[in-house]
Amino acid sequence: MYHPDLIRHPDSCPALVLNADYTPLSYYPLSIWPWQTAIKAVFLDRVAIVAEYEREVRSPTAKIKLPSVIALKQYVRPSAFPAFTRFNLFLRDKFECQYCGAGHDLTFDHIIPRAQGGRTTWENVATACAPCNLRKGGRTPKQAGMPLYLEAIRPTNWQLQEHGRRFPPNFLHATWRDWLYWDVELEA
Ligand SMILES: [Zn+2]
Repeated sequence: MYHPDLIRHPDSCPALVLNADYTPLSYYPLSIWPWQTAIKAVFLDRVAIVAEYEREVRSPTAKIKLPSVIALKQYVRPSAFPAFTRFNLFLRDKFECQYCGAGHDLTFDHIIPRAQGGRTTWENVATACAPCNLRKGGRTPKQAGMPLYLEAIRPTNWQLQEHGRRFPPNFLHATWRDWLYWDVELEA
C-alpha cells in the first residue's frame, strides 16, 4: 500500500506556517503557504522545517520531501484584530442568524441600512438568515422590531479563536495536529 501522501499532488501539499514561537502565524485565515513558497523560504533559510509530507519533489540535483509544517526563524508580532472578511464575520456570530438563531441560509445584514447611511463595518454588519434579512428590509432593528442577539462588535483574534474551536477548517494534514488548538477537542 502506498502512503496517501506519496501520490498526493504537490498542489495539495500546503505548509502550515508557524511563528517563531511555534504557534500558528495566523488562525483566520489559517496561515498556510503553497509548497513552492514553502520550499523557497526553506532555501532562503527563513524557516525551519518542523514536519514533512511523504511526497517528494525532484530538482535536477536532489529529491526533497515537501514540508508540511514550517516555523519562521524571526518572530513576527501578530495583530490583535482579525481581518474583516465574510468568514470571520460569520465566525464572530457563530454561524447563526442574529435575529432568530437559524444556522442556514445565512446572509449579511446591514444593521443600519445603507440607504440610511449605514456602513460596511464590523459594527454595522450582522449575520442574518435570508428570511430575516428580507423581513427586516430597509429598516433598523428598532424600526423593524427585530433586536439583535448580540451587539455587533469588532472582535479580537482571541475572541475569534474561542469561537473557532467549534468550526475547524476542512483540510487538516495529520502533521498539523500538534500545532492547532482545536484538535484536542476534536479527539475528546
Ligand atoms: Zn433569521
